Amino acid sequence: MANNDRVAVAFGKLAARTIRMVGAGLGSNLPGKVARKLAPDVLSHLAGQSKRGVLAVTGTNGKSTTSGLLSSVLKTAGFTLIHNRQGANLVTGITATLVDAASWDGHINTDYCLFEIDEAALPLVAKETTLSVVVVTNLFRDQLDRFGELDTTARLIEKGIKVCQSPAVLNADDPNVCQLVPEVSRVFFGIDSENCEIDSNKNDPNKESNNSSQSMELSYCQKCGSEIAYDCVFYGQLGHWRCSSCDYKRPDPTIVATNIQLSATGSRFKLTDRKNSLSVEVKLPIPGLFNVYNALAAACCAVKLGVTLESVKQGLQNYTTLFGRSEKINLLGKPVLIQLIKNPAGASQTVKAVVEDKTARVLIAINDNLADGRDISWLWDADFEPLAKLKGQFIVTGRRADDMAVRMKYAGVEAERITCIPKLEKALRQALDELGPDETLWVLPTYTCLLELQRIVRTMGQTLAGT
Ligand SMILES: [Zn+2]
Repeated sequence: MANNDRVAVAFGKLAARTIRMVGAGLGSNLPGKVARKLAPDVLSHLAGQSKRGVLAVTGTNGKSTTSGLLSSVLKTAGFTLIHNRQGANLVTGITATLVDAASWDGHINTDYCLFEIDEAALPLVAKETTLSVVVVTNLFRDQLDRFGELDTTARLIEKGIKVCQSPAVLNADDPNVCQLVPEVSRVFFGIDSENCEIDSNKNDPNKESNNSSQSMELSYCQKCGSEIAYDCVFYGQLGHWRCSSCDYKRPDPTIVATNIQLSATGSRFKLTDRKNSLSVEVKLPIPGLFNVYNALAAACCAVKLGVTLESVKQGLQNYTTLFGRSEKINLLGKPVLIQLIKNPAGASQTVKAVVEDKTARVLIAINDNLADGRDISWLWDADFEPLAKLKGQFIVTGRRADDMAVRMKYAGVEAERITCIPKLEKALRQALDELGPDETLWVLPTYTCLLELQRIVRTMGQTLAGT
């Protein structure tokens, strides 16, 4: 380590410590900024010490969950790793993660560095450190963006992969993704399902969400520019696609999910490695077809790294205890974290995570529909008390907004700090309106509130966790 790297690491660590001490809410980037100012090559020197390489996860949706699942799989397989916190996925945040993990004299001791990386930041990170594998989850079009935004993002990802000619792990079912970087070594993952049928429990509101999200997004063939046609659409532009005029079509994926059964609390599917003709049955502890894709992306990367399919299965199933929060999205230009709450243990964990975020503002959405559980007495068993430590206004919404408001009062939040807005969309818009610069909105919905949120988020031109 060069002398200026050591100084940079030390000052970065001091900055992080100061932020934690004063709770200044400056986010997780400042220590990285400080370190980079003092030693511009610090990211390169720190990440370069990882024994087995640097893994990157990028794409529009599911970065956090995919890298979380991959982290769980690699740890289960016995590897050590450094993994950036969700939200810290720009160059400064990644540098801050490394500074935090380094010893005071600038040494890193880890098998892997695993980074979820913002699409636009990928080329910058790739320039500073060799990316051993780049995983691309999906590329959804953001309706609010100006025309061509998706192409710009695709070109940035390609640029990032080409810098080090990194092998790529790509979603075969997303025509926007699997047309990327034909010149590098690529491995594909995807869903195979007879007649497009995904078996979902009749009472499962997921079913409804799958149907309502069949609004297809147009994609175009990279070879001839014609429209992409589908034999089968799972959601958005994800499905079994082919060019409507030339012979270009969905590549056969190596890592495949079949026999998918969705339920309100998780999914079961058969995970197959077609290259080695191996299969395992996976019980994924997080719900939603989009999370089956996230699991496939993680599995595909892990298998490429030599992890056995049995370890992959165990790692995916272990994820339940690590499930902290869902991904960060931008709504009307503001950072929002959405985390499902459905039982006392999970809600208490989420509240713990919320109060650790000094930039947090909170919106809680409680319904008592069948899929949420009619009995909301669990609210009284969950530990909402730490929320009283947060500053500012709270908004509660949903069919049981009033009950949640009462629960908050008993948790020690003064009545005048609780705003009750039963309509979810109105509540969300007000919360976004009131969100200050540098603040993050945490939305904690029950299951059917989450489904409603998915629809609202769509009207704001965003897709939630790959829905
Ligand atoms: Zn074509």
